Parts: sequence; structure tokens; C-alpha cells
Amino acid sequence: MHDIVIIGGGPGGYAAALYAHNFGLDVVLVEKERVGGTCLIRGCIPAKTWLQTAEVFATVANSEEFGIKSSPPEVDWPAALARKNKVVDGLVNGLSGLLKARKVQVVDGFGRLSDGAVEVTAGDGSVSRFESRAVILATGSVPRSIPGYDIDGRLIVTSDHALDWEEQPGRVAIIGGGVIGCEFASLLADMGSEVHVFEALDQILPGTEPDAVKVLERTFRKKKVAIRTNTMVGPAQLGENTVLVPFGDESVEVDVVLVAVGRGPLTDGIGLENTNVEVDRGFVHVDKVTMQTAEPGVYAVGDIVAGTPQLAHAGFAEGIAAVTHIATGEAAPVDYRAIPLVTYTHPEVASVGLTEAQAKEAGYDVDVTTHGLRGVGRAIIQGEVGGTVKVVAEKGGPILGATIAAQNAGEMIHELMYTVAWEALPAEAAAFIHAHPTVSEAIGETLLSAAGTSLH
Ligand code: FAD
Repeated sequence: MHDIVIIGGGPGGYAAALYAHNFGLDVVLVEKERVGGTCLIRGCIPAKTWLQTAEVFATVANSEEFGIKSSPPEVDWPAALARKNKVVDGLVNGLSGLLKARKVQVVDGFGRLSDGAVEVTAGDGSVSRFESRAVILATGSVPRSIPGYDIDGRLIVTSDHALDWEEQPGRVAIIGGGVIGCEFASLLADMGSEVHVFEALDQILPGTEPDAVKVLERTFRKKKVAIRTNTMVGPAQLGENTVLVPFGDESVEVDVVLVAVGRGPLTDGIGLENTNVEVDRGFVHVDKVTMQTAEPGVYAVGDIVAGTPQLAHAGFAEGIAAVTHIATGEAAPVDYRAIPLVTYTHPEVASVGLTEAQAKEAGYDVDVTTHGLRGVGRAIIQGEVGGTVKVVAEKGGPILGATIAAQNAGEMIHELMYTVAWEALPAEAAAFIHAHPTVSEAIGETLLSAAGTSLH
């Protein structure tokens, strides 16, 4: 009898497996492909590697602004793809080594709940059973599509295919202006592709502070990305090597359509029907304090969980919470109020806590403070002055949320994460001094203003 069997070796599952060593637990991790999951293999890591390539390209292309003459750069797509694969393989191999060092038994095959145990069917069809005190479901998610856009991997693709494109597409329509759609728009536009983004709602990055979205939209427009919000596309019309995307009375012809309309849970076939686990359109309901489902001893973490963010670091935290409860019976709930969300576009958009609209909707009387980067020394040095910092606080009370649009917003957001998590008052946070010259000084300035004592 093992302590825990985990089904799925992505961030939720592998974090649970690694963390269990703190309690000396005996863990089996079942994975049908390579360990690492969407994040390492088809998500965060490969996407950010492509974005890094695009950033290097853009830096070289704009080098004259900094007094450096260079010939116009060319993308060596196969070399960039090879680098992406090398980064992914390095991290997957590192993770495999770490799991081995922590004595996690990794079992290859498809896992499903069956008669109080986990049954694993290997690639050769052989079946084995693993009994345990607890099971953690961490089977993750897969891309969704919309009617009229059947994924064929060539003309109509998802991020799974786009990360492995063997050549740079000339003209791309991206259906969905959320995080994944915007990241691809950013990297493709930086490297010179023609990009069209279609978003059904009234702004790209729906749910994000409009001030920060405007910064990104401005940059996209400079790079000639065509953004069409409030726009529903009609069914794609496939040609031999092109696709016509209709919308309203118009249409655009592209070489490929990238569908980025969200991700659905991967829970088919894992045996939930014979348990008390409650499922809503494939998403698994858990007690968000312990991550336990309605079936005692069965936990769920990561993208399959109903109503929690589909983010790798949310999966890590949920894996830790589940293992802590299994090992100790104590609750170590995830603090969902303060999970940062980063869109790694150029510039990045990062947020934590509530937006102004969300805070008002939750009934708060709010004070809102913003600070642009136009006068910030380091931003001027970097040639990246289009950004903004916004802090939302309860009137006379703590900081509720913040959003940053800036080149390294994804790194900068963490100091505001602490202020939200620790419910700091603007004046308490403003008392600390930021190093000069840094872009983070804009956060200090925003906090000073929020405390009613602005400097610049
Ligand atoms: P997954 O990572 O999907 O892993 C699930 C694993 O379970 C997979 O390895 C799968 O093979 C395995 N599995 C499934 N069913 C079975 C079964 N029955 N038996 C055995 N194994 C099974 N998040 C961020 O936080 N930051 C980012 O920058 C970011 N960028 C992203 C970019 C893209 C293009 C995409 C697509 C996603 C991105 N995400 C990002 C989201 C992130 O990848 C997911 O939130 C995260 O991977 C979810 O982790 P998970 O463990 O729940 O599931």
C-alpha cells in the first residue's frame, strides 16, 4: 500500500510528488507522456522561449536607437525551434532526475480510478494496479476550439502545434485575445509576421485593468497587429494553403489560424463515474481548503479544478495543499487572493488581487492610484516608457490589487503580491525605499501617491 498515487505529471502532479518527500511519503506518479505536463512541454516554458527569441530579434532590429549599427536581423526559425526543444528537454530531464532523487516511483501509462485503486494501462497494453491511502488527480487540460474551426494541425491549429511550427507563418489569424492569444500575437509580430487578433469581448486580455490593456494595444498597433474586439468570426473557409476568416461583412485571408479560446479539463476516461467525485463540464469540484473531492481520500489539483486559475503556480500551490492535508490532516489552504497573473507579451502585463472594477463589484469603496513610466529614468534608458503601474486600495484601508504594464512587469509584480497578501496599507508599503534607477521606482511612486504623499 503506497501513501499517494498521483495521476498526471504536470505542475500540479509533480509539485505534489516532490513536496511529499518533506513528510517521508511513498509516492507513485503516473504519467502517460513525459513528466512536465503542459507547462514544461506545450505551455509556459516553450512559449516563453519563443518570446525570448522574439525579444532578441526586436532588440537587434531596434539597435540603432541605442547607437548600435547592425544589418537587419533574420529569423533562423529551425535554430530557434531547436533552442526551444533544448530548453524543454533540459527542464524535463532535470525534473525526471529530481523525482528520482526524491524516490518518487514514476510509472508510464494511462491512469484511472478503479475499485478503490489506480489502474495503469501501459503503452504495450499491460495493466497494473496501485493501491494507496490517497489519490491526487492532476490530469490537466487541453485546448478547446469553436464551431467552424476544426483543428487539423496545419491550417487550423492550437498552441500545441504553433509551438512546433517548422517555419514562420507569414499571415496568422488568432481567434481569442486572452493570455495565450496575446503572447503569440506579440512574438509573431515582433518577428515580422502579419497578425490579426479576433476577440469576442470588448478588450483583449478580458478581465485585466483597461489602463494596462491600452498600453499593450498601443504597442500592438505600432507593430501593425490588427486587433478586432467585439468581433465574432464566422466559420473558416479553407483553401489549399490559405484560410479565409469571415467576420461581419468582411474577411481576411491568412496562411494559418491559431485558435486560442481557452482550455478544457482532461478528465474523460479516468474513472470518475464510479466515484462520488463531483464534476461540472469535466471540471472537478474540491473543498478549496484541502483540495479533497467529495470522495474521501481523492484529491484534485491544477487545471482540472473547478473555479481556480489555470496557472502552473496555482497548480504547484494546490499540490502542496493536498499533500499537506494527506500527510498531516492539517489544512494549508492556497491564498487565491494573491496569485500573480502574468502575460509575457512585450511589454508584459502583470496583475495581482482585484482590479478596480472587481473591487467595486465586491462592494469596496476604493482609492485608485496610477503612475506612468514616462518620467522614470530606467524606463527612459531602456527605451520602454509606455508602461503604467496601478494600485487599488480600499479607501483608508489596505491594498486590494495592482496591475503593471512594463517590460519586466512579471518580475516587478511580486512586491505588490506581498502587499496584497499581507493586506498592507499604502503608507506602510510606501515607507520602503526602491533602488535608483529602477523601473520598480514607479511602484514606490504609486504607493507614495496612494498614501497621499506624492514625490515626482
Ligand atoms: P498539465 O500541465 O496539463 O499536466 C497534466 C499531465 O497529466 C500531462 O502531462 C498529461 O500527459 C498527464 N495525464 C493526463 N491524463 C492522464 C492519465 N489519465 N494518466 C496519466 N497521465 C495523464 N501557466 C503559467 O502559470 N504561466 C505561463 O506562462 C503559462 N503559459 C502557458 C502557455 C501556453 C501556450 C499554455 C497552453 C499554457 C500556459 N500556462 C501557463 C498554463 C499551464 O501550462 C497550466 O496551468 C499547467 O500546466 C497546469 O498544470 P496541471 O498539472 O494541472 O496540468
